Amino acid sequence: MVLAKSSRLKPRVIAGLRQGIIPVARWLTMIWGRTALRVALGVALAGICSASGTVPPAASEAALPPLARSGTVPSDATPYPAPTAFPSSAPIPSAYATPYPGPTPSASVTSPGPTGALPGPGEVGRIRERPGGLPPVITAIPTKRKVVFLTIDDGWEQDPGFVELVRERGVPITVFAMRDAVEARGVPDPSAVGGHYVGAGKWSYFRELRDLGVPIEDHTLTHPDLWQLGYKQQKAEICGSAKVITREIGRRPVLFRPPFGNFDEATIRAAKACGLPAILLWTASVQPGGKISYQTPDKKLHAGDILLLHFRAHLARDFRILLDKIERQGFELGDLNAYLGAARVLAPAPPGGVLLHQPLG
Ligand SMILES: [Zn+2]
Repeated sequence: MVLAKSSRLKPRVIAGLRQGIIPVARWLTMIWGRTALRVALGVALAGICSASGTVPPAASEAALPPLARSGTVPSDATPYPAPTAFPSSAPIPSAYATPYPGPTPSASVTSPGPTGALPGPGEVGRIRERPGGLPPVITAIPTKRKVVFLTIDDGWEQDPGFVELVRERGVPITVFAMRDAVEARGVPDPSAVGGHYVGAGKWSYFRELRDLGVPIEDHTLTHPDLWQLGYKQQKAEICGSAKVITREIGRRPVLFRPPFGNFDEATIRAAKACGLPAILLWTASVQPGGKISYQTPDKKLHAGDILLLHFRAHLARDFRILLDKIERQGFELGDLNAYLGAARVLAPAPPGGVLLHQPLG
C-alpha cells in the first residue's frame, strides 16, 4: 500500500502544490492552533493519497480524512470562534419544522425522537456563511463540551437490527442517503458485496428511521467524485438528490455531504442553488468492528467531532461497540441539528429538539 502510493508521490506533490498547498499556506499564516494542525495533516496526505477513481467509495471515504482532499477550500467550522448570542434577524432554513407532503401519518409530532445532548446557552460558537452568502463547510462543531456527532452515509446495506437499536436507545444520528445505494442501482459498493440487506427496504428503511426522528440528508444521486464534474453536473446531482429525498421522505434535506469529501467552489455554489444551507464533512471515520480512524495525531476524540459511518451489514453490532467506546471516553452524543441551530447554521431547535413533520399547508 505504502509502496504503491509512493510511486504516485511526484505527480501528487505537483498537484498538491497547484491545488492545495499554496492557498492553504496563505490561510495558515492567519490561523494557528488545532485547525492548522488538521489542515497541515490534510495537505500532507493530499499530496500522497488524494482520491483516486480506483478506490472503492466507502473504503476511500472512510480511510481518508475529508480535509485531505479539500485543501483548496478550508472548513468554516474551525477555528472555534467565541460563542456569540443569536441575533434573530435573517431567516434560516429549519431542520425541524418542514412541510411534509408524504402519505405516512406515523411520522408525526408524537415521534419520540432521538435523545441527543442539546447545546447549553452560549456553548456553541457561531459558524458563519462564506462570503457571498455561500454555505459554510463544516468539519466539526465549535464547542468545548465533550460531545460528538454520529453520521451514517450511503445506504447499500439496510440492517434491520440497526433501526431497532436506534429505536431502543434513542441514538441521535444524521443520515446522508445516496439514491443509487438506497435503491440498489448499479454495482454495489464493495463493502456491501456478500451482504444480506443490499437494497432490502429501499426508501422504506429510511422512512422508518425518519419516523424515529432521524434527519435524512443529501449525498448525491450516484456518488460521483465532484472534482470531475462541472457546476451544472454537480447541481444536477445535488438538486436531484434533494428532490428524491423530499419525495420519498417528506422532508427537504438541509445538509449536503460530498462523496469522498471532495468538493470545490462549484460544489458550494451548487449546494446553495439547491437550497442547502451547509456542507457537512467529518472529523473521524468508523471502520467495521467499531474501530475509530482518527484524523488527529493524538488518536483521541475531541469536543465537537463529527464521526462518519456507513450502512453496512453488521451496523447494529458495530454501533454497539462504538457507543460503548464513546461512553468510555466520557463523551455524550449530540443532537447535530440542535447544535447547528445554536451555531446559526440552521434555525434553532424547538423545545425538546423533536423533528416535526407537518402536513403540507
Ligand atoms: Zn458516500
